[in-house]
Amino acid sequence: IKTVITDVPVPVAYGPAFEGERVRGENIYLECGGGRTAMLEWVTSRPGEDIVDGKVSVIGPEITDTPPGSKLPLGIVVEVSGRQMQEDYEPILERQVHHLINYAQGVMHIGQRDMAWLRVSKDAVAKGFRLEHIGLLLHAKLHQDFGRIFEKLQVKLFTWETDVAELLHQAKAAYAARDARIEGMTDETTDIFYSCLLCQSFAPSHVCVISPERTGLCGSYNWMDCKASFEINPTGPNQPVTKGATIDARLGQWQGVNDFVFKASRGNIDHYNFYSIISDPMTACGCMECISAVVPLCNGVMTVNREHSGMTPSGMKFTTLAGTIGGGVTTPGFVGHSKYNMTQRKFLSAEGGLKRLVWMPKALKEEIADRFNERAAEIGIPDLLNRIADETVGVTEEDILEYLTENNHPALTLEPLI
Ligand code: SF4
Ligand code: ZN
Repeated sequence: IKTVITDVPVPVAYGPAFEGERVRGENIYLECGGGRTAMLEWVTSRPGEDIVDGKVSVIGPEITDTPPGSKLPLGIVVEVSGRQMQEDYEPILERQVHHLINYAQGVMHIGQRDMAWLRVSKDAVAKGFRLEHIGLLLHAKLHQDFGRIFEKLQVKLFTWETDVAELLHQAKAAYAARDARIEGMTDETTDIFYSCLLCQSFAPSHVCVISPERTGLCGSYNWMDCKASFEINPTGPNQPVTKGATIDARLGQWQGVNDFVFKASRGNIDHYNFYSIISDPMTACGCMECISAVVPLCNGVMTVNREHSGMTPSGMKFTTLAGTIGGGVTTPGFVGHSKYNMTQRKFLSAEGGLKRLVWMPKALKEEIADRFNERAAEIGIPDLLNRIADETVGVTEEDILEYLTENNHPALTLEPLI
């Protein structure tokens, strides 16, 4: 069934029917983000007097200022105000940007936050689609779906490199502050987890269940965000899930979660584990920030993030791995997760946690270093990060094993992984 929504001010067809559509190769008119340029999405609250409802500004080159096949940096900043508006609601509005942009025919959107990726097709541009329409559709749809929580909304689209770089700085601080709100909570101290079904439109059997210590695999929803989302929209995609009886505390499996997953996956998945990569790990859709995979020869696990395009010791690049584990199935030996989750205490805890981590890209190491080093100190191996191999050491199991041995990596003395 093709549902086309008509009351959105864009010159192309618009509706959920176009969500899974790809824009490729010769048909790309404009590309932003996806590791090619900087791109970010950020919803932030502002005082009411600073906002003109419905105003959309493109600050920098518009699509019409660039030739077909161009790349531009892009910062999408949505500013909202209203008496009901709370800071806690910002991430909920922000996560809508992904599917709302995807609903436009000929426009492809992947990712979130500073990991977003946009392609606009030549067909869409020929029909008159401009960056401005991203602002117009966000204004229309967010008002329609979330008008209860804000009064005014305006959108700024930045395409100058220096502006986007400056915004990146501000937005990253905001993302980090959101992530930190979950710090100190544990899975044991709450009886309620939350579901996220936002990705079922393209991975119909995929159900994210989000606990305090397992942030959503896309990195944009943590437990606190889901709680806020449920407050805003009690019949929406984030429902409370009562943990129920503990089936396995070490693996992270609960009866109430299983029951929920069974129903929400329409009988496709009847259980999964929160803390294991070996035993029936959680399912994945397509938006995971990172993928971990078992590296048998090293008795450990490697992790690769979406931005890393090179080969990995699993013998696959990120895109191949994503194709292998995406689509809402459980794939023992592989698991999708967020970057933040790597430094949450339950990460791979069924298999020994961070001590299992034998390889990750250098840039990812740098990105998560501060929090990683705190966790490493807690487990008594403060220099663990340096003992983990990266692409400068090697990208095959054999190559990194030598490094791990030389550096006395803890995975080599853990019990056999498989
Ligand atoms: Fe929700 Fe999971 Fe999709 Fe993120 S990946 S939007 S948490 S279903
Ligand atoms: Zn997803």
